Amino acid sequence: MTTVTNETAVTNEQAAARARAVIPGGVNSPVRAFASVGGTPLAITRAQGARVWDVEGNEYVDLVASWGPALVGHAHPEVVAAVQQAAAQGLSFGASTPAEAELAEVVIDRLTVNGVRGIDKLRLVSTGTEATMTAVRLARGVTGRDLIIKFAGHYHGHSDGLLADAGSGLATLAIPGSAGVPAPIAAQTLVLPYNDRDAVHAAFAAHAGKIAAIITEAAGANAGILAPEPGFNEFLVATAHAHGALVILDEVLTGFRVSTAGWWGLERTDGAIWRPDIVTFGKVIGGGMPLAGLGGRAEIMDQLAPLGPVYQAGTLSGNPLAVAAGIATLRLADAAVYERVDHAAAVVASSLSEALEDEGVEHVISHAGNLFSLAFRSGSITNYDEAREQEAWRYPAFFHAMREQGVSLPPSVFEAWFLTAAHDDAAIEHIVSALPAAARAAAEA
Ligand code: PMP
Repeated sequence: MTTVTNETAVTNEQAAARARAVIPGGVNSPVRAFASVGGTPLAITRAQGARVWDVEGNEYVDLVASWGPALVGHAHPEVVAAVQQAAAQGLSFGASTPAEAELAEVVIDRLTVNGVRGIDKLRLVSTGTEATMTAVRLARGVTGRDLIIKFAGHYHGHSDGLLADAGSGLATLAIPGSAGVPAPIAAQTLVLPYNDRDAVHAAFAAHAGKIAAIITEAAGANAGILAPEPGFNEFLVATAHAHGALVILDEVLTGFRVSTAGWWGLERTDGAIWRPDIVTFGKVIGGGMPLAGLGGRAEIMDQLAPLGPVYQAGTLSGNPLAVAAGIATLRLADAAVYERVDHAAAVVASSLSEALEDEGVEHVISHAGNLFSLAFRSGSITNYDEAREQEAWRYPAFFHAMREQGVSLPPSVFEAWFLTAAHDDAAIEHIVSALPAAARAAAEA
């Protein structure tokens, strides 16, 4: 049998050095490089439930959860079995499979809340970046307009037009955008402060008849948590529609994580009546495999090729292994899973606040459903400027103190902490007991 081993790397440092020689920065996605926290990035070799192990054999309670996908815990036996079963039937066919329709049905069913369908049809792609990139193209194709509104600090993947003032790794690295994006393309994106209704009105007034869509994270989660103010999403839909534009609700991170029907599901159960035009999914939909998607009303989705003039394609789109993982994960993600994740998040967030309080460290915990993030400042945070005005330099000490005690946190203060249904009482207790020393380290930083 052929196996892939990590034999030549026995320490995280050796693994990082080996990777740096052949991979830019030693990583295949920038936040993994620990640029803002310093120190040696973890080289992970294994994960199970709420825990991950590095190449040195160190065990950590994990709060990264693959940046969201591992909602039911790492390597859940039912998800692994589904993938193994699919793999035995062939890795990829370049043709449709019945499972793709099954996953679309599961997603459409979950997005039907209070009798209202959030989406009628779903197109599967492989990454969140592709989902949002395609959603933008679709919105432009449908409206015949070019401009897009996005919000500062929101991250929608790394396609050219969506990198301006983006969160995630760009927030971590404190860079405003990317080299290599032609100015005329960047100029098609209007970046507005989040939760600012006047700015939205002003943009539509200044660019009458030219704005194709507003793209917004359903709840901002890539510059720390930036929750939408109550009614803001509904306002975006009403305003966009009044001007003949669409709303792309990016649920790549929140979808199937904050509720069975994502963030829209949470607002919908709260009685809201708005409906987005296009919704993007990623992360949990693939349960840890490369899978994402975009859904919307039939008349919009049917503008995609082969029915319509908006082109999108993918050799590995709807990959059978990824679809199997997605179906298995979503079938597992029942009400009990969300109760568990909500509970774990609530306990960890309040313990975090207590620990920092005890050490007199100024902080705020921002929440959006079961997602939360820490910021070293006081007062609530509603936009990217406020998120950046904090004592972010306290985070590396906090992060490393947690790591030394066997807890793996996101390596940036601008990221959410991800709990999973596998965070049982023992895992939560482990995290909670590590917090006081980390809070002390933050206080002394
Ligand atoms: N949209 C949002 C809201 C995200 O959080 C992310 C990734 N963190 C993306 C899009 C891009 O997804 P991917 O990394 O799969 O390309």
